[in-house]
Amino acid sequence: MNKFTKITASIGPKSEDRETLTRMIAAGVNMCRLNFSHDTGDIQGHKIDMIREISNELNMPVAVMIDLQGPKHRIGNFETEDKYPLEIGQKFTFDNDPTPGKATRVQLPDTDVLGSLNVGDRILLNDGKIEMRVDFASPERVDATVVRGNEIWSRRGFNLPDTEINTSVLTTKDRADLEYAITKNPDYVAISFVQRPEDVAEVRDFITARTAHPIKIIAKIERPNAVERITDIAAAADGIMIARGDLAVEVPYAEVPAISRHIIRECRKMNKPVIVATQMLGSMVASEFPTRAEITDVANTAYLRADSTMTSEETTIGINPVGVIETMYNILAHADADAIANPYDWSRVENIPENDWSRSVASMAYLNRASAIVVFARDTIAATQISCRKPDIPVIAVCNESVVANQLCLARGVFPIYCPELFGMRDAFNSARRFNINMGKLVIVDEDKISLRTLD
Ligand code: PEP
Repeated sequence: MNKFTKITASIGPKSEDRETLTRMIAAGVNMCRLNFSHDTGDIQGHKIDMIREISNELNMPVAVMIDLQGPKHRIGNFETEDKYPLEIGQKFTFDNDPTPGKATRVQLPDTDVLGSLNVGDRILLNDGKIEMRVDFASPERVDATVVRGNEIWSRRGFNLPDTEINTSVLTTKDRADLEYAITKNPDYVAISFVQRPEDVAEVRDFITARTAHPIKIIAKIERPNAVERITDIAAAADGIMIARGDLAVEVPYAEVPAISRHIIRECRKMNKPVIVATQMLGSMVASEFPTRAEITDVANTAYLRADSTMTSEETTIGINPVGVIETMYNILAHADADAIANPYDWSRVENIPENDWSRSVASMAYLNRASAIVVFARDTIAATQISCRKPDIPVIAVCNESVVANQLCLARGVFPIYCPELFGMRDAFNSARRFNINMGKLVIVDEDKISLRTLD
């Protein structure tokens, strides 16, 4: 059973040896995510080389996405103890004094962040377990009152859901990481803590000033102000990741499902692929089997016609990364098959104009009961747009550039083939046969020429 929903797998200590990685890709990974919050430089570069080699050996296109850490903020160290008790209602101060903290104060090392806070803003520490509210704000010092939480630990991360932070989306570390990563020609770069479309433009300028390689940009949505600006951010980016980990800290967790559906719909309208991330099969860090809730979450991602699911710790530090991919593949294949057997008319749901060319391609395929749509893909645009119309039959993309084949690995229902010598009708037929499509009609899209052919 070919699944339509793609799998993005985070690669880490338990999945970066050649044998495991080969088995994971063979089991259904379409895109590998390398998280630069952990390893950097040549350690990641070596993994990129290995993914390319395995992709060649298996003759399967695989995308590589590097994920930049972004401005993840942490408080400073404490004086003697590693942690101090907190009481609800007590005062706590964050300042720019580098001396170790005490029971009622600690340094906040990013001075730009300190200067961005306003009276009334929430400060959430330790994944939201601690909440404080700002009573006094100045560029050197912020006083806050504890609303939730009973102890504060040194070096803990914090989130500021109410605050527009006036810093570059690229930290000094991100710039060094990106500078290196660009030399390895990744297919995608994911940017963390995007707040506005200008953040995407900044990263694009950074990349295009250094390389002509057509690297695509994924904006990670994990802040409330990014959710509010999703249409403009999706327009600026090449794809979106719903980073549910930080998102569920920064917005009330009960709103995450509704926000996810909204983002998926917006991406479909904007013809941009969307990845749903974090804790999809989280229990498999320590277990061979997913929970019932996780099975349903993965399946629902396919029912919502997102482009890709994503694994996190379950494939970086989990006991059986290959088993995680097999499990995810199995759930997605069943959900995709059911979704296709019981379809919606997506073009109507999404209000796409009747004269939209990609809607016409999907309708032509539907009315003629075509077995597949074959796109001669000189770039990613046509195949991605057709994928966003959710035609529910395979979109086979015959690509004369390997980077286009890799990048199309992310688009739902698109099966890319790298075929350097393009293009003839025979390529279309042969490509369909490679996916076991041996009879029926094909809709062929070759730039602005759309035709219907019967497989012979
Ligand atoms: C997330 O927060 O869900 C996420 C994917 O980001 P990261 O793992 O980089 O914190």
